[in-house]
Amino acid sequence: MKGKILVTGGAGYIGSHTCVELINAGYEPIIIDNFSNSEKFVLDKIKQITGNEITTYNIDCCNLELLINSLLAEKIIGCIHFAAYKAVGESSKLPLKYYHNNIASTVAILSFLEKISCPNFVFSSSCTVYGQPDILPVTEKSPIKLAESPYGRTKQVCEDIIHDTVKANKTLKAFALRYFNPIGAHPSALIGELPLGTPNNLVPYITQTAIGKREQLTVFGNDYDTPDGTCIRDYIHVVDLAKAHVKAMEELLRTKEPIFDCINLGTGKGNSVLEVIETFERVNDIKLNYKIGPRREGDVEKVYADTSYALNKLNWKTELSLEAALQDAWKWESSLN
Ligand code: UDP
Repeated sequence: MKGKILVTGGAGYIGSHTCVELINAGYEPIIIDNFSNSEKFVLDKIKQITGNEITTYNIDCCNLELLINSLLAEKIIGCIHFAAYKAVGESSKLPLKYYHNNIASTVAILSFLEKISCPNFVFSSSCTVYGQPDILPVTEKSPIKLAESPYGRTKQVCEDIIHDTVKANKTLKAFALRYFNPIGAHPSALIGELPLGTPNNLVPYITQTAIGKREQLTVFGNDYDTPDGTCIRDYIHVVDLAKAHVKAMEELLRTKEPIFDCINLGTGKGNSVLEVIETFERVNDIKLNYKIGPRREGDVEKVYADTSYALNKLNWKTELSLEAALQDAWKWESSLN
């Protein structure tokens, strides 16, 4: 065993896939999760996939005292911090809920790592920090735009907090990983995304419509300045994304100097909403009930990653296709049924 990695939000969508990949790579994930947006059965599923039982603490990671009391004895060598609220629309209605949870948890986790002298920190960030970039594909050097939502602003603020902490604490090493659009599920169909209520994201809405939980998908606008008029995103298979976290942690473990860096995690390829629908229908042999509706407020027209920095820095690139992601998403939805 190569060492214990603390994974906050480890029972969640990206967290659970990352725990699997950490185990595959020889690490021991230790989960902290308060199960506010995840299910306990996910832990059994991870065990089914990997054969490993994961030590799990049901605690709120905003609570520094509880973190110290519960985890001081664990010999943690690094932390991957996923735990955060993530519903963009809700964040505009309840900004303080988002500012409190997402920022306080990051501050508490950083304080805890300082307390135990653990220098390796990977933060779950988002391409939302770029807004609508002026130049595509978007590189890490692109300017940070005014956030479209309080959710997006929490990611920007947390990146700044981590950067300040690295500057002040001469031992901390940190990466902020800026995800593009994570989709799909583990190919075993044992773990995947579990949206709370009506999904906001495209792929869970597609799979729920295909299975009959939703009547019809609405495509939000087809009058954008794109080849087919619908918005373009960079959809990345969640298993590829999970593997990038292991690579990022291993790079930090190798690095001797304090470091703070932001790294895009995407495929480098943009696909439109209609291309995603067409691909889903084709690879799963399903006809999807959808209509074209009005634009959704706050949507970015097109965004996809320049992935060269991730390749240089982490020696990582995606291996799985959009087709595979949409097949795995469908297998997962079907298994829930
Ligand atoms: N989208 C859509 N219908 C839906 C959900 C999403 O047409 O029911 C579109 C949305 O307008 C965007 C793309 O799908 O162009 C991806 O949306 P998602 O919310 O998954 O990701 P984000 O917009 O945060 O990148």
